[in-house]
Amino acid sequence: MAASDAHPASVAGDLVIARPEGLYCPPGDFYIDPWRTVARAVITHAHSDHARVGHGHYLAHTDSEGTLRTRLGADINLQTLPYGEAIAHNGVRISLHPAGHVLGSAQVRLEHGGRVWVASGDYKTEPDGTCTPFEPVRCDTFITESTFGLPIYRWPTQAELFAEINDWWRRNADEGRASVLLCYAFGKAQRILHGVDPGIGPIVVHGAVEPLNAVYRAAGVALPPTFRVSDPEVNPQMLKRALVLAPPSAQGTPWIRRFGNYSDAFASGWMQLRGTRRRRGVDRGFVMSDHADWPGLQKAIAGTGAERVFVTHGSVAILVRWLTENGLEAQGFKTEYGDEDVADQGDAKPVAGPDAAALDPPVADAAS
Ligand SMILES: [Zn+2]
Ligand SMILES: [Zn+2]
Repeated sequence: MAASDAHPASVAGDLVIARPEGLYCPPGDFYIDPWRTVARAVITHAHSDHARVGHGHYLAHTDSEGTLRTRLGADINLQTLPYGEAIAHNGVRISLHPAGHVLGSAQVRLEHGGRVWVASGDYKTEPDGTCTPFEPVRCDTFITESTFGLPIYRWPTQAELFAEINDWWRRNADEGRASVLLCYAFGKAQRILHGVDPGIGPIVVHGAVEPLNAVYRAAGVALPPTFRVSDPEVNPQMLKRALVLAPPSAQGTPWIRRFGNYSDAFASGWMQLRGTRRRRGVDRGFVMSDHADWPGLQKAIAGTGAERVFVTHGSVAILVRWLTENGLEAQGFKTEYGDEDVADQGDAKPVAGPDAAALDPPVADAAS
């Protein structure tokens, strides 16, 4: 056999290989979430590290159309597919399956010559009400992310998370100050809107958030009414009970300072680390992620039945080691995917420091 144990990647007949442009399907002659411009791209979801401008042709889930056209341009050459429906391209059968990450997020299933591969993009295993829940897809080879691939990452349930957020908001409202919650504008903001108790007070959103709310509402996702600061209903009195959603990049700007004596908080999976909360300088940190936590990654990978696993970004070395120890053939793919919170702000992610040093196993981050 040509495939040696030392180099399990690039076996002849692999349905996806790593190329400088991105993850490439040789028999199909197309890419999945490429980071360089290519002729044909299958896009798992519309976050900016996965969906880039300039490709000749895009294939994505039907519910990604609104976000892709909003972010990449109304005139992109886009073909859409509902979940579970297959098309054939150069003899490769392609279908999209729910990834539970953000609206329209999809795992890409490829079938060719008796082999089945699934590229998951980003995914989350707990349903959140704003997108179709993750579904495991049986395959021989699974390509997974590992953004939070460390045993310390275990998310609270949706119910626990929203009880915490509602309590914080209600207490601030009772004390007459706005609750400013910093969160990524696409996905996380809509999840917060969908999950909070709108009976506590009015909700005001930053200009970066509202266009995405519109896309979600158009797709049939129930979101409570939201105000822009420029709306006539918005006045100093109503702001004292308001929940304000803004992207992390708004922190410290005049836009935020208008809310006066407010309480602030940050919603991110990185908030699980005390050091990250401290460095953000916010009153509260809510542990909330659109990615799978450590148990979620394990459950998702086991659910595919795959014998071979490629890990694309995040704690690649840690997850590869864990998979190998559990009898799977695993290795990393070098990609240019990142994390939404980091892409927005640049410093939401933990760096080496007291908290990182306390981690066992140590952080080995291959993504950036
Ligand atoms: Zn994403
Ligand atoms: Zn990503």
